[in-house]
Amino acid sequence: MALISEESLERVKQSADIVEVISAHTDLRRQGSRWVGLCPFHEERTPSFSVDAQEKLYHCFGCGVGGDTIKFVEEKEGLGFAEAVELLADRYGVELTREREDPQAEERRRQRRRLGELLDRTAAFYAHVLWDAPEAAKARDYLAGRGLGEETLRAFGVGYAPSAWDTVLMRGQRAGFSVEELRAVGLAQRGRGGGEYDRFRERIMFPIRDRRGRTLGFGGRAMRSDQGAKYVNTAETDFFHKSRMLYGIDLAKEAIAKAGRAVVVEGYTDVLALRQAGVGEAVGVMGTAITEEQVAALSGMVDEVVLALDADAAGQEAMLRAQRVAAGRNVRLRVAAMPAGEDPAEMVTEEGGAERFRELVEGAVDLPAFQVGMVLERTEVDSPAERDRALGEVAPILAGMGETASRDELLRRVAGRLDLEPALVMGRVTAARPPSGGGPAEPPREGGGPAPQVRQGAELTSRERRERALLAMCIAMPAEGCEYLSRLTDAHLSPSGVRAAAWLREHPEDPASNLPHQDGELSSLIAELVILAHEEPASPEAMELNYLLLEQRRLESEIAAAGEADDYERRAALSRERATLVERIARTERVGG
Ligand SMILES: [Zn+2]
Repeated sequence: MALISEESLERVKQSADIVEVISAHTDLRRQGSRWVGLCPFHEERTPSFSVDAQEKLYHCFGCGVGGDTIKFVEEKEGLGFAEAVELLADRYGVELTREREDPQAEERRRQRRRLGELLDRTAAFYAHVLWDAPEAAKARDYLAGRGLGEETLRAFGVGYAPSAWDTVLMRGQRAGFSVEELRAVGLAQRGRGGGEYDRFRERIMFPIRDRRGRTLGFGGRAMRSDQGAKYVNTAETDFFHKSRMLYGIDLAKEAIAKAGRAVVVEGYTDVLALRQAGVGEAVGVMGTAITEEQVAALSGMVDEVVLALDADAAGQEAMLRAQRVAAGRNVRLRVAAMPAGEDPAEMVTEEGGAERFRELVEGAVDLPAFQVGMVLERTEVDSPAERDRALGEVAPILAGMGETASRDELLRRVAGRLDLEPALVMGRVTAARPPSGGGPAEPPREGGGPAPQVRQGAELTSRERRERALLAMCIAMPAEGCEYLSRLTDAHLSPSGVRAAAWLREHPEDPASNLPHQDGELSSLIAELVILAHEEPASPEAMELNYLLLEQRRLESEIAAAGEADDYERRAALSRERATLVERIARTERVGG
């Protein structure tokens, strides 16, 4: 694969209809020259999401996300840049041409392909052993005993790792792979004596595949009780990040799209048993609490995720983080509480079990309500100390929900149960907001790009608001803008302002046409400035005033610095300069009205 050519990238940008693309995720209304709607990236009641159809940009004045059509698709569909371009090209009938890539990147890609091939071959070998080798008879019996049929096992590529210490090592090398390559994908490991051996031996093997069905790692279940850990997974490699993977996603994705929801379970066999019982939308988190990355991956596919996990045991902290991510991405997390001591795999093999499981899923309650319910249930409401402890526990849960109607409802329930004023509970919720300002926490993205900067508009400093207004006017009035951009120095601007100003100096004609897609923070800031430029009135007076106010800020920090350096002479000179400036500002304000 080679790079998409600049020219076809340009055609994709021109052909894609940003209003149409975004309308699939939120209702947009025309308002003058722009389109507005509820932000599809954060939960809100009044629209602060703005789309500029002409410039083909979007920006949310609430949470700060923004960019062009490609960025929107990347964010909303959880795709990398190239994949997002391909999707749009496909949709708008643009044929992509490609250019040759630099040799280093091509070499990395070649290496990755080789390692992928090694993993796929090994998975096929394990499957072959499971079905044909006499030593796997016990494993076959075990799986049959769990009610799993051959068709299901084959669909998931379940296999068996033989007991010999170097089967995969020898086979891999015979097929032309090096020991380093076997180690790189986590199939071989080095012993204390320095020799290499197979990581997986005498285990039932579950290949862990990505959305496209490529094997990236394995989970291995021990066959004997004296075999060390019951489950061993591929160690974290460049290839394999367990916290980002969802077991069974390759087979489940269609059923998930059809059902409009995903069901998340804990173990490998849960996923297999559910699929066999007709619950095809199940994916596994492989024994851990659901991670932020997993929620993010699912958020690109569905609006609703049902957790059929032991919710009490799954770490409260992890759940809170997952809830924040879910709230930030408009995903509803619900809990289907499993009866104590029973897992989905066991349940669905019983008579009528599949029906019972479906009912549990249908009756699932929202995660925050579920968690709050658990706290309230174990609280002795007669004891003030207990009520205080309960309040401390529920406050972060409520805070993680964002400003929603369901939060308000839950808050009233808590107040009623604990016999407290709702305003008091609300106070604790406000105090419990994460230090980021309550904006939804964004997880690292699958595409590997930097996470979008999420900032509440209100969180900007007055200097940042001032500099953004000025920079937007520089776009609105390019002739004057050019002059102000040359007058502005780094000392006038915040770090993000410095970068935005540099971008505008380099792209004076058309700042929005080629957003730096590898720099999400800068792209979203430029998108914001261009949209502001179209919305806010600009005038030479307003530009001058904003510039002078930034100049005042600059002088004030120099005065402070001179004071710290005990340079009183310089401080006095600067102070006189400031006095003149303040007068000028007052005059300009009068002119500007
Ligand atoms: Zn937003």
